[in-house]
Amino acid sequence: MLLKKGFKLRYAVNALVFLTVLTTVAISSMVAYQSEKKSLTRMTFQLNQMYSEKISDTANGIFVDMKKSLAVMGQYLSKDLSRPDLHEQLDLFQQTKPSFNSVFILDKNGVLLEATGESQSKIGSVLLSDGTRQALKEKRPLISEPFVSAATNKLIVMVSEPLYDSSGNYMGYLGGSIRLHETNIFQTVLGSEANRADGSYAYVTSSTGILLYHPDADRIGENVVGNPVVQQLMAGKSGAQRVINSRGIDMLASFSYIKESGWGIVAQTPTQVVLDSASRLVVNILAYMLPALLIFLFAIYWIIRKLSEPLAKLADFASMLAPTNSNMDQLPKIHTLNYEANELHKAFGRAVRHFRYQFDHLSQEAQTDPLTGLFNRRTMDRFIASWIAKSSPFSIIILDLDHFKRVNDTYGHDVGDEVLKFLAISMRRLLKSEYACCRLGGEEFVVLVPNESFEIALESAESIRKFMAETDSPTGDKVTLSVGVAHYPGFASNAEQLFRVADEALYRAKHQGRNRVEAGQPFLKSELNA
Ligand code: GH3
Ligand code: MG
Ligand code: MG
Repeated sequence: MLLKKGFKLRYAVNALVFLTVLTTVAISSMVAYQSEKKSLTRMTFQLNQMYSEKISDTANGIFVDMKKSLAVMGQYLSKDLSRPDLHEQLDLFQQTKPSFNSVFILDKNGVLLEATGESQSKIGSVLLSDGTRQALKEKRPLISEPFVSAATNKLIVMVSEPLYDSSGNYMGYLGGSIRLHETNIFQTVLGSEANRADGSYAYVTSSTGILLYHPDADRIGENVVGNPVVQQLMAGKSGAQRVINSRGIDMLASFSYIKESGWGIVAQTPTQVVLDSASRLVVNILAYMLPALLIFLFAIYWIIRKLSEPLAKLADFASMLAPTNSNMDQLPKIHTLNYEANELHKAFGRAVRHFRYQFDHLSQEAQTDPLTGLFNRRTMDRFIASWIAKSSPFSIIILDLDHFKRVNDTYGHDVGDEVLKFLAISMRRLLKSEYACCRLGGEEFVVLVPNESFEIALESAESIRKFMAETDSPTGDKVTLSVGVAHYPGFASNAEQLFRVADEALYRAKHQGRNRVEAGQPFLKSELNA
């Protein structure tokens, strides 16, 4: 039913506007989200990159300094390894180089000659661990891979400098250790940035992919070679990339290679931080937009209503228009700025006025006689038929002008017409408005008298006859008439009988000298007379 009639303009336009606004908001939210995500990701990469590069530079500097200090100190001590103040010299050296957790000297056989801190207890012992073996074998400045110290049983990284006597004989090496599980140079260098509240953190890997530093101390020493970022670092590269870390968390990682040690620094932020921040921005934008959006939608709703209201009124009016609808002239009043609605309203008004005129005119024409304006024969027949159908009583008065042919002959046809009009006007004036005055054609007239007694009808007939007999017509002289009167159902039981009764009465009036009113006689009686 709804589809057959079509959607109302107002609902269709409103739905369209609502959909458009919704789509626009959805698209702009998506665009805002994507662009914010992109720029935040780039920024996060950059910040992490800057941080890891800075740390890398600092660490590089520190390692250069460590190596140089060890070289200078080694040269100084190698002159005489049996000097009595060897221990003091080492102690002093370590205090000026707090980057080392301990400093020590191993001879070429791996015997611990001198040490600071807790390793002192092992002086005189042979300490052959992975790191010491490598240093003794290679006899050159080294930064070791992490290994477990034979002296302290702790995981360390060792920086070492070979010692040669004046004749160039290898004597052993001077080493500095960094204990990975104790407060060390990495915490100092990485600072508080190493573990931020938003889940960002930094870690350091060795050239073989071993964790040298991680905020989660339990993981130090763990092999993380599987991490793609670590693989890049092991290949000596720096850069930035999105990775899934070993705990399955999506991360934005920036990484820098430390040239001096072959190690790598990774600074990373959970991708979720960026996504959350982008979502918050979109939610904030929507919250800011919402009041304006609601006002906008309401205004549009109101404007559409105002624009469509007149059209809706016209449509309602048009749907009520029907030939049988007598309210068809009630065109609604509209006030609108809408051009189409105004034009339609005007056109409707013109059409309705035209219809009404045509309707009134045609029905008038169909019902009346053009010369006198009295009802015509067709209308008279309708009245009679409806009253007989309802069995409501009425009288019929038939009037015929006397010697009218003579009037025409004497004064001309036009004056004859004037006489006919004069009679029509007189009948209307003399008779009650409920009486139906009709002209059957020629100079024959009928008056239908509803709901009155036959006597009243006779009196009415007499009043017209008398008036015509006493009043000058347009001819300047009197024109009389003869009248026959009959009653339904008193004298007849149908229209045809009724007319015959009235006609006979009229004929009698003519016969008896004209200018008379004759009452009809009941049908059976007149039938016998005939
Ligand atoms: P009577 O007294 O017997 O009725 O005589 P009459 O001359 O009136 O006779 P009849 O009724 O036969 O004549 C009717 C005349 O009415 C004939 C015609 O010239 C005239 N007539 C009919 N219609 C019109 C009309 O529309 N206009 C005019 N001016 N004359 C008409
Ligand atoms: Mg006649
Ligand atoms: Mg006549």
